[in-house]
Order: sequence, then structure tokens, then C-alpha cells
Amino acid sequence: MRKLVNRPRRLRSSPAIRNLVRETQLSAHDFVLPLFVSEKLEERRAIASMPGVFQFSLKEIVDEAQRAQDSGLQAILLFGIPAEKDEQASGAYAENGIIQKALRAIKTKCPDLVAITDVCLCEYMSHGHCGVTRIDGDHFHVLNDESVDLLVKTALSHAKAGADMLAPSDMMDGRVGAIREALDVNGFQETGIMSHAAKFASSFYGPFREAAESPPQFGDRRSYQMDCANVDEALREVALDVAEGADIIMIKPALPYIDILWRVRERFGQPTAVYHVSGEYAMVKAAAQKGWLDEKRVVLEILTGIQRAGADIILTYHAKDVARWLKV
Ligand SMILES: [Zn+2]
Repeated sequence: MRKLVNRPRRLRSSPAIRNLVRETQLSAHDFVLPLFVSEKLEERRAIASMPGVFQFSLKEIVDEAQRAQDSGLQAILLFGIPAEKDEQASGAYAENGIIQKALRAIKTKCPDLVAITDVCLCEYMSHGHCGVTRIDGDHFHVLNDESVDLLVKTALSHAKAGADMLAPSDMMDGRVGAIREALDVNGFQETGIMSHAAKFASSFYGPFREAAESPPQFGDRRSYQMDCANVDEALREVALDVAEGADIIMIKPALPYIDILWRVRERFGQPTAVYHVSGEYAMVKAAAQKGWLDEKRVVLEILTGIQRAGADIILTYHAKDVARWLKV
């Protein structure tokens, strides 16, 4: 007989003992379900590259929000697809824009559901960039301060329509502070900001662009979204958003940036969200459809890993499925 004092396997010897010592527990309360609402649709439209994800009509989005709440989720993130796009993104801040209408309808039916809105211009701009652009010969520029002015208008109109929290995803400099100030001046001191603090220029956003109908018509987003190689820069971006008044900071995407999440959580100790993005979802779905992965086990492992690395909140297209799995 070996003389072993430490036998870590003792704590793995039965399901009940493993449950006793489990350090990370997923809860439906920690998830946010992203939802797409389109002004152009009468009936839902499936997103081919994201099985199980749909664009909903205005009428259907209310029922989908209700179903999300019934499944045990407490929060949704709304993205809008307008009927018309232009060079000033006017649909983003129109009083009767698609998000504004959807918010009023959802908050009437589900007042307790936390309604977070994406605050960006790309879905509403004819060129698909997240800000105002200027073309100089072969070069294009995304103009920071002009874009921030429109983002502030958008944020205010969402707050007026009933948003509980605003999630600016554009990555313009100074937009969190500008939005916070405008909210406070206009009596929306209680409306929160979940900033995309460190949003990386990522190829994992591919399927989202089909869902949100927002691919850039020229160029790419690397002059405003971050370089995937940089971590110190991510920490500086987060520090700025915290100083400007962000209530929750977000890292996006999730798995390839899990080291950033860990460092942000350790350094700032702020409520921290992670966006498990469309491409991450699509990879799991594609492999599961081929029978190469067990979807449920893989999703629970991924989300546990993200939470273990420091996420307080996980935005994921798997949210409804996970809420159902956690009930049984
Ligand atoms: Zn955008």
C-alpha cells in the first residue's frame, strides 16, 4: 500500500461530492440573449450560418422576449435592422425606429425583463461602418467626434423608449462619457451603460453580419476595433470606459480573448461581461450538426470556462438552450 496523504481523487469520487466542491456554477441569471428585430419582416427569418437564431418581426419579437423570460432568462440585448439605411444612420435615433418601437412593446409586455440595446450605427448606415465616414481619394476615415454625436442621439432615444441599459459597440473614443453626460442631463440617471470596452476586430463576427445585415461596403473596421494582438491596449481601453462611467465593461469575442477577460477582472474588479459571438456559436453548431461534438456538453464546458475566467455576465446565442438545460 502506498503512503499517500493527499489523494485529490477523494473529492471526485461521487456526483454529490463533486457538486459540493464545484467552484463555478452556471445560472440562467448570468446570461443575456441577443435578439434581432427587423423592420422589413412580417415573419421570422432564419439565419443560415446561425442555426436556431432568427430575425424577428416587430410583432414576433415581443413573444420571443416573453419566451426568453419564461425560460428563466432575465436580460436580452436588442439589435435592430431598419427598412431604410442612409449616410446619417437616421433610423438609429428615429423616434419610431425599429428598436424604439420594439422597446416600447417589449417593456409593456415584460416590464421586468432587462432590456439592453446595442448602440451603434452600422446597421443604419448605407455603408455599414459604425460611424460617419469621409472618403479621401482611395482612403476612407471614420470620423470620431461626429460619430459620437450620433451615438449620443441614439442612446438618448433608446433611453426614452424604455431601455434599461445601453451597450455602445462602436469603439469610438469618448463615447461612454458623452453618453453618460447626455443621459444625466436629460433625466436618465438610472439608465446603465454596458460598454464594449475591449472589442477586437475579429473574424468571428462573420455570421453576425448576416444576422444584423451590417457588413461594411468598403474597407474594414480595424481603424476603430482593436488589434487581436494587444492586451495592454485592452486594459487602457477598459480604464477609459470605467473612468467615463461605464457600469459594466465587456470583452468581445470570448474564447480567443479569455486571457484579457481574466486580466480585466483581476485588475478592475468591475462587473465584467463577455460576448460569446456569432462565429463561436456557429462553430459549435456546425460541429454538432455533423455529429462531431456533443452540443450540450461542449456549450456547458465553454460557458463554465468563460465564467471561471472571470465573467459575471455572458452574452450568448446559446442562452435559451442553457437556461432550459440548467432547469433539469
Ligand atoms: Zn457597429
